[in-house]
Amino acid sequence: MSEEITNTPAAEASTSAAARPERPARAFGKKRFESRRKVCKLCAEKIDNIDYKNFQFVKSFTMESGKILSRRITGTCAKHQRQITKAIKRDRNLAILPYSLPKK
Ligand SMILES: [Zn+2]
Repeated sequence: MSEEITNTPAAEASTSAAARPERPARAFGKKRFESRRKVCKLCAEKIDNIDYKNFQFVKSFTMESGKILSRRITGTCAKHQRQITKAIKRDRNLAILPYSLPKK
């Protein structure tokens, strides 16, 4: 009796220890990268055409340094991202938005 009791936990411990290197990594990864659905801001507000003259709105899609934010970050769809980049580049050419700003 006593031997059986002592044997089973030890056996379990050894198996869990053997499986340990793989399992926590998977569980950790799942929890860490909990995916949140990104929705295109412009599709949600049903904006068809982006006006380059509305520079304050266009500016919200640029970094502080003046770079254009990627789709990955803002979550805009391909169609709207194309329009945004066009508007930003237009504004840059008209000196409404900067091409680049120095780092602070
Ligand atoms: Zn969109």
